[in-house]
Amino acid sequence: MKNYKDEIKKLKNLNCAEDDVFFQAMEEVLLSIEPLISSDKKYEKYAILERLTCPDRVIKFQVTWLNDKNEVKVNTGYRVQFNNALGPYKGGLRFHPTVNEGILKFLGFEQILKNSLTGLPIGGAKGGSDFNPKGKSDFEVMKFCSAFMTELHKYIGPRIDVPAGDIGVGGREIGFLFGEYKKITSTYEGVLTGKPFVFGGSLMRPEATGYGVIYFTETMLATEQKEDLKGKICTVSGAGNVALHAIEKLFHLGAIPVTCTDSKGTIYDPRGVDIALLKELKLERRASLEEYTKTHESATYIPTSEYPEGGHAVWAIECYAAFPCATQNELTELDAKTLIKNGVIAVAEGANMPSTTEAINAFLKAKICFAPAKAANAGGVAVSEFEMSQNAAMQKWTFEKVDEKLKQTMQQICKRVSLTAKDYGVEGNYVDGANIAGFKKVADAMIAEGI
Ligand code: NDP
Repeated sequence: MKNYKDEIKKLKNLNCAEDDVFFQAMEEVLLSIEPLISSDKKYEKYAILERLTCPDRVIKFQVTWLNDKNEVKVNTGYRVQFNNALGPYKGGLRFHPTVNEGILKFLGFEQILKNSLTGLPIGGAKGGSDFNPKGKSDFEVMKFCSAFMTELHKYIGPRIDVPAGDIGVGGREIGFLFGEYKKITSTYEGVLTGKPFVFGGSLMRPEATGYGVIYFTETMLATEQKEDLKGKICTVSGAGNVALHAIEKLFHLGAIPVTCTDSKGTIYDPRGVDIALLKELKLERRASLEEYTKTHESATYIPTSEYPEGGHAVWAIECYAAFPCATQNELTELDAKTLIKNGVIAVAEGANMPSTTEAINAFLKAKICFAPAKAANAGGVAVSEFEMSQNAAMQKWTFEKVDEKLKQTMQQICKRVSLTAKDYGVEGNYVDGANIAGFKKVADAMIAEGI
């Protein structure tokens, strides 16, 4: 390859809009894998970079539904089927007003390498809509999901593309989507994962991503620091599926998670977050975190408006390990510098790409144990694949079996990432390790499958 930087620019011009999060994700990967690309000409010969940075297809459709006042509402739906070299397309659906094609391309691209790292036979995809489930009645959410599936069902199937949940899409939404798919196609098949347990969901799928992040961190700390999480102060952002279960697993291991956040503010509870109250607020009542301080006087609530400029209040709290589990680019360079100054030892990403490029560079420079999302949060999709296996075999595995397999998977990913980093002369750099290991498997499969 003549000039690698020019090649990246060319791929950017081909695939990305200006200031696109997709380019941020793509550039990070391309820079990491340069040693692999330049050491083996086959990747250039088979045009792997061009092929892997362009989705197989982007499906965009109109979703028209009726709200409770019988008014016609219109949203946009998407499914980005990125790459199926390793197995059927697989990746979540996000319902959030910020959803657009660029965000879904970034998430789909990350998903390819994440799914590859699990070692399981799944390709990469992502989808969703700019629909906001917040403040909608259950019937409105149901009507939206039905309308969304009326179009999406044409493109998915247990051996084609198996969507799951993400931000704004939990068991309730997956249930409605599954019900509509079943009605339209007259088939009862494992076409979605993250289903409620009562009809085909796997035990432990809700816990999988959050627990997985902590299993990964345990292994990373044991490998790199010969330490564990017992008695350590930890900070977590988010108060959704991933954050809640990361907090829960931290408690199981004797750590003290002292924070959680939502889009409006941060809770700091130095005695440790009350997980039962958090579940009640967020899972049962879908309420704001502000209510937490009504019953917990020791806790502080910091509204978003009081955050430091260019930073997030949660990362100013001293901790041994930090777990960003809310959304993309929520941890900035300023936040990274504050965490480093306060002595953080490990940072593990529960959300997808929560740290900016500058923040990651600061962590790597300071030799912080940094676990990138595509490795650390792969537990969710791993258990989704276990759900597919259970559905295909018409079986139900026990909680203990799923948990054990999840733990093994996270340990294996951590080892693979760590060894790959060592093999490529960047020992301890889990960003490069994850990108190279994830890319190599997909690229080799693409070459073996021909063009
Ligand atoms: P949820 O919808 O359950 O929770 C998201 C949390 O993040 C909520 O607390 C929400 O606050 C907060 N949040 C969302 N958007 C923003 C924003 N723009 N600014 C500030 N806060 C925000 O989602 P999940 O927990 O499922 O997902 C969280 C992250 O983890 C995402 O990046 C997702 O892609 C990633 N992920 C999720 C997996 C899963 O299995 N669920 C698997 C792998 C990755 P509020 O309550 O106010 O809305």
